[in-house]
Amino acid sequence: MHPTDLLPWHSPLWDTLQPARRAQRMPHALLLSGVRGMGKLQFAQRLIWALLCEQPDADGVPCEHCKACHLLHADTHPDFLNLTPEAEGKAIKVDQIRALQGFTSLTANYGRHHVILLHPAEAMNVNAANSLLKLLEEPPPDTLLILLSHQPQALLPTIRSRCQQLDFNRPDLQVSRAWLMAQLPDASAHPDLLLNLQAQAPLAALRMASQMQQRRQAFEAWQALLDRRQDPLEVAAIWLELGCANSLEWLLSWTMDLLRYHSTQDANTLQNTDLQATLCSVSWRFRPRLLFSLLQEQQQHRQLLLRSTSVKPQSLLEDVALSWLEKIT
Ligand SMILES: [Zn+2]
Repeated sequence: MHPTDLLPWHSPLWDTLQPARRAQRMPHALLLSGVRGMGKLQFAQRLIWALLCEQPDADGVPCEHCKACHLLHADTHPDFLNLTPEAEGKAIKVDQIRALQGFTSLTANYGRHHVILLHPAEAMNVNAANSLLKLLEEPPPDTLLILLSHQPQALLPTIRSRCQQLDFNRPDLQVSRAWLMAQLPDASAHPDLLLNLQAQAPLAALRMASQMQQRRQAFEAWQALLDRRQDPLEVAAIWLELGCANSLEWLLSWTMDLLRYHSTQDANTLQNTDLQATLCSVSWRFRPRLLFSLLQEQQQHRQLLLRSTSVKPQSLLEDVALSWLEKIT
C-alpha cells in the first residue's frame, strides 16, 4: 500500500474534507477516531500529502514529483511534524507538546501549512493534554493539527470539542471482505474469521492473517496445559517465544469465548469460529466466576505489559499459566 492510497471505506470521509481543502479553509484541528485497524493513520498520511504537495489534483492525489512530495517520501519535510510517544505504550509528555509552539512559530518552508500529526492522542498525560488545550484555544495560523485516537472517550471533552471529529466506523462486511481477499496472498485464508477475530477492523484482520500459525501453536500449548500434558513453565516458555503481547491477546479472546458460551450456550456466538468445538467443551471445565477472574487477571497483565518497564514477560506468562491450572476442575 502506498501512503496516499485511499482505502475503499474511507471515501465518504475523504469527500467531506475536499471542499475545505480546495478552498484552503481547513479547520485548525481534526480528530480521527475509531477502533484500531480502520486505517486512520493511512487516511491522515493521505491528507498530509494532499496539503503539502505543490500540485495535488482536484481529489487531493499528490503529484509525486514536486519538491514537497520528494521530501515527504524521504520523511524529511520541514513543515510536517509527527508526534508520538517516545516508546510504544508510553505517554506523550508535556515537553513534546511545548515543542510544538516552537515548530508552529516558524514560517512554513515550502507550502502554506504546518501539519502536525499526534497519535495516539489518548497517550497524552494530564499535563500534555492541558498544554495541548492551550494550543487549541489559540490556534496558530496556517497550522493543521491532526489527532488520532482509538479511544476518543479518554480525551478531555474540551479537546474533543475544539476538533472537527471524523468517526471511522466499521465498514460493511462485503466491503471489508472484498478488500481483505484482494490483500491476502493465500487463497485458503478465511476473511470472515479474520474480521471476526479483529472486531471487523480490516487492517487489523490483515495483520492477524500473518499470525494464524502462531495463534494455533499457542492454542495447542494452552490445550496441553489444561489437559495436564505439559508443565506450566514450559507452556509459558512457548507463549513467550510466540510473543508475550500476542499470546495474552489470544488468551483473552479465548477466555471471552468461554464466557460467551457459558452465558448463551450457543456456539455461533463465539468469535474464534475455527476453534469452536474445543472452546465449547473446555468451557464446562470452568465455573463462570473463575473465568471472570481469569479475564480480569489477564487484562491487568496486559495493562502492566503496556505501562510498566519493570515487568518480566516470562514471569508474567508463568503466572498466567499457573492461574489457568488452579482454576480448572
Ligand atoms: Zn507533489
